[in-house]
Amino acid sequence: MSGPERMFADLHLHTRYSDGTYTPEELVFHAQRCDLAAIALTDHDTVEGCAPTEKACKDAGIEFIAGTELTAEQNGIEIHILGYFLETQNERLLKEIERFQTVRQNRIREMVARLNHLKVPLEAEAVFALANCRAPGRPHVARAMVQAGLCESLDEAFERFLKKNRPAWVPKFKISAADAIELIHHAGGVAVMAHPGLNRSDNVIPAMAAAALDGIECFHTKHSTAIAEHYLEVADRFHLLVTGGSDCHGLSKGQPLIGTVKLPYQHVEALRARATQVKARCQSADSFLGAA
Ligand code: AMP
Ligand code: ZN
Ligand code: FE
Ligand code: FE
Repeated sequence: MSGPERMFADLHLHTRYSDGTYTPEELVFHAQRCDLAAIALTDHDTVEGCAPTEKACKDAGIEFIAGTELTAEQNGIEIHILGYFLETQNERLLKEIERFQTVRQNRIREMVARLNHLKVPLEAEAVFALANCRAPGRPHVARAMVQAGLCESLDEAFERFLKKNRPAWVPKFKISAADAIELIHHAGGVAVMAHPGLNRSDNVIPAMAAAALDGIECFHTKHSTAIAEHYLEVADRFHLLVTGGSDCHGLSKGQPLIGTVKLPYQHVEALRARATQVKARCQSADSFLGAA
């Protein structure tokens, strides 16, 4: 028997719709193998993969949560904000996402121009062809470099050229964390700070909590047990919901990360309850505006 106490979720996953390597069907195949009860798709700056992933989940008997991962900024620090239970047809969300995607595409051209200036003969079209999605990012540039024989490995591409402050790194326009949270709420979703342990960003948490952040990703592949415990305590202190996920981007060192972070299902229920509240609040605000 697998009662709720034995059910687990992975709420941080990427597919080919951003910088993951799996199709939705491949991702769900692995979710099934890991015996996950629920998964959330959190591709960077897109919700395009949600419909096909939802369908694959339905066929596999897995609960699906529509999400995204937005790149935001707070006090000059890059913060990733996860949105869950999103209305993926929300007009403003789609319009903003399109803007972030244009920024990403222009950034690829600029990174390639910088590489060319460094006498690395990569073509932007090669990156776009490999990415084959609307939200291309640095991993696609790294993969295209390896494919063209310009680097030995993805690590080498990041270390030599693409990491922050390396010669081909280009900063990305980011919305403020408060605007990202507001946008997610507007689309009926729940806003969660991703992998806080990666950003050394504890000092921005009070401001984000004040901006109505709903939750914090305590469990993540790159969080040690001590770090996860620290963020559980932070969640408690700021009355934030607890989430977790593997941040699987497909095959990584021979094994996919999906399912290696197992979030107890009770946290999914708490998130869903919050999403219901957010949606009710949006509706009453809309009808208030409609009446005015
Ligand atoms: P971008 O959104 O274009 O800035 O790319 C960020 C993504 O690049 C992250 O989500 C990771 O998947 C990946 N990434 C960031 N730093 C590294 C690194 N040092 N090595 C490999 N992948 C990285
Ligand atoms: Zn990524
Ligand atoms: Fe992230
Ligand atoms: Fe991610």
